[in-house]
Amino acid sequence: MSSMETTLNPLLAAQQQISKAVRALNLEQAVAAILAEPQRFVEVSFPVKMDDGSVKVFKGYRCQHNNALGPFKGGIRFHPDVNGDEVKALSIWMTLKCAVLNLPYGGGKGGVVCDPTELSRNELEQLSRRFIRKIYKIVGPENDIPAPDVNTNASIMGWMLDEYDSLKGSNSPGFITGKPLILGGSFGRTEATGRGVAVVTREAARQIELPLEGARVAVQGFGNVGSHLARILQQMGCRIVAVVDIYGGIRNPDGLDIPELINHVAKHGSVKDFPGTTPIGNEELFTTECEILIPAALENQIVDSNAKHIKARLIVEAANGPTSPAADEILEEKGILVAPDILANAGGVTVSYFEWVQNLQKFYWTEAEVNKRMERMMVQAFQNVYRMHQEKRVPMREAAYMAAVARVAEAMSLRGWL
Ligand code: NAD
Repeated sequence: MSSMETTLNPLLAAQQQISKAVRALNLEQAVAAILAEPQRFVEVSFPVKMDDGSVKVFKGYRCQHNNALGPFKGGIRFHPDVNGDEVKALSIWMTLKCAVLNLPYGGGKGGVVCDPTELSRNELEQLSRRFIRKIYKIVGPENDIPAPDVNTNASIMGWMLDEYDSLKGSNSPGFITGKPLILGGSFGRTEATGRGVAVVTREAARQIELPLEGARVAVQGFGNVGSHLARILQQMGCRIVAVVDIYGGIRNPDGLDIPELINHVAKHGSVKDFPGTTPIGNEELFTTECEILIPAALENQIVDSNAKHIKARLIVEAANGPTSPAADEILEEKGILVAPDILANAGGVTVSYFEWVQNLQKFYWTEAEVNKRMERMMVQAFQNVYRMHQEKRVPMREAAYMAAVARVAEAMSLRGWL
């Protein structure tokens, strides 16, 4: 298999990483074979009546990877590049992420191939509802619980919940997480992934004796995750020196005012042209002088060509699968500590879990309770993985995979699957 293939196909990368963990743990090969494929993968297509009266057909997926530890759990992504292998890889990462955090969930993921920037609000709502009509029989609060991902948000979760409830004749807020507060959402959910990334950044920085006060941070992606983590890291004392999004990027070595930048993005739709900054491109972001680099956009952004030039001491993966396996080896050689995605960005699913618990109990927590419990679980998971990293002398990613695979394998074995 060429390194090109593994760079371009996140499914192959996920399968290879699992096999490596299975070997390192001395588990039977069947564990890797079971985890290489999803338990169920559904492809659907459905028509949407567009505002101009025409009909457009969209393709969507729901992947249910593994439910040994609990119901499938995972977001729904709207993006033109969504494809079967990507959804499968993302569902595998969800299985592992839930296991790393010790959540009673398995892994799932969904996606619809579409460009939401080209859809009106009405078309987006019709598309969201139609997708749920196609998959409602296989999802639900007891067996598969969706959530937001790239280009999906609380309003979309609200429409999806309403469609599910209409079809089932129920009121089941626990069917989906990341909902608006009034529909049973949880305090702290919107910013949870970013907050969790900030907690992991703090813990990892402590281990490499990097003081957060004044530490320079470069962030790729300034959406839900990127903007919140930048804001919280700035509150912790970091200096955010560079940010890029899909339209362009900005740099200021003295640090960016993140609340102002958030206002700028709300007005102009991009970080581009933020006053008092120098424009930069994606590749310059990776080579920016900084101590901490945080990819918070999409997969395969840190690849062998740019990994060589990275100057950061710490990389915290807010995005899913941002680092190719070839780049990983380069980072390891350079002695850069990488806090892997399945650990670093698990704050979102952790608070999704809290949201689901609150929905099932019909009893709601305060924001402070949510944040405190999430922080405690993230710190515990970090320490567990860091201990494995030191004891077994393996990179953090391998340690996280080992911790996760060991838990899923134990559950599969006790269920009699092995
Ligand atoms: P989002 O759609 O809100 O934001 C994505 C950001 O990335 C935007 O600023 C966009 O402009 C930027 N971007 C997209 N393509 C880019 C490119 N080629 N170059 C530079 N920037 C680019 O999405 P999000 O919810 O913030 O998710 C970001 C990442 O975090 C994804 O990998 C997602 O799977 C992961 N993640 C999200 C959550 C969550 O709770 N939202 C949880 C866990 C992991």
